[in-house]
Amino acid sequence: MKDQRVDVFVEHKAGEEFTCPECGRKLGVYDHAEERTWRHLDSCQFTTMLRARIPRVQCPEHGVRQAGVPWAEPRSRFTLLFERFAIDVLLETDVAGAAKILGISWDEAHHIMRRAVTRGRARKPRKLARRIGVDEKAIAKRHKYMTIVSDIDRGTVEFLAEGRTKDSLFSYLAPYTVAEVAQIEAVAMDMWSPYFETASKWIPLAADKIVFDRYHVVQHMNHAVDQVRRAESKALWQEGDATLRGTRHLWLYAEENLPEHRAEHFASLRGLRLKTGRAWAIKEMLRDLWNCPSRPAAEAFHARWHAWATRARMPAVFKVAKMVKSHLHNILTYYAHRITNAVSEGLNSAIQTIKKRAGGYRNVENFKTAIYFHCGGLDLYPAHSTR
Ligand SMILES: [Zn+2]
Repeated sequence: MKDQRVDVFVEHKAGEEFTCPECGRKLGVYDHAEERTWRHLDSCQFTTMLRARIPRVQCPEHGVRQAGVPWAEPRSRFTLLFERFAIDVLLETDVAGAAKILGISWDEAHHIMRRAVTRGRARKPRKLARRIGVDEKAIAKRHKYMTIVSDIDRGTVEFLAEGRTKDSLFSYLAPYTVAEVAQIEAVAMDMWSPYFETASKWIPLAADKIVFDRYHVVQHMNHAVDQVRRAESKALWQEGDATLRGTRHLWLYAEENLPEHRAEHFASLRGLRLKTGRAWAIKEMLRDLWNCPSRPAAEAFHARWHAWATRARMPAVFKVAKMVKSHLHNILTYYAHRITNAVSEGLNSAIQTIKKRAGGYRNVENFKTAIYFHCGGLDLYPAHSTR
């Protein structure tokens, strides 16, 4: 009562046989190891510990070995049921929060997470995803990046590599044979990514498989709109005109996402025939490049858009128009594959949450573990733990 604890002492019958953990041979007891404890699920509010001296067997082939116990994985300090519960808690919160709820240390909670990821990744069949997204993610200040390869159809993180170089993507493909890599049907990425070269070099028929995805293309255009607004706003402000002050976010919304309470203000701004308004309209038109009935229709649509964008006399917009034109083939491969990197963008925000929740990571390895744990779509639970 004083320690709020239940101790369960586990023993075995005399003459019982146990199996060698290596070969499964049935053997008599050789001796017993020192008593060990395993944390089990609480009994009511009481911390519950399993205590046992594990029998050892002497295998003619493998020597003296500890018999396996049915309630825990080798070397674990927790029972399978506790570990399973801990995984469920970890899935709902971060390591520090889970440690607090479970009454274990941060290191123990993290260790359970790491073991779960190792288990899940070992169970994963050796197979490349058919349609992948490749994206970069800033993981720390000072330009530290991570490469994220995602399975577009499953919405899971398949692979993480440090950095955002050609090698980062190559390290995903490297363990596979040419025939296996050839199974990749499509790859979504940004136009300006270093991954293009790697994908082109190593994925057979890459020219028709790489899709510069909509999200990133429109991002570049959004950035151009912002540059136009900034310059115009500054020029107006110098003449004492505050029209564009504080309007940054209004121009970045997709038209249909504009909040209702800002709609009137935005409509009045658009009525002013500002450069920014024109840049915004060019951006909105570009978004329809992905809504054409077919690739030839999209090509014709692009020609009209390009003519408008390049005659608009806005260097930032002109630059994007040039970039879109030179990358057009792999933008319009969209019509063959119908993929975007939206999945990796979703994962990106999930990863952002993981990063924020943990208040930063002590090292990249721990961060990667947490990403695989939450976003890897892995089978994390220890075997037999449902019993
Ligand atoms: Zn053996």
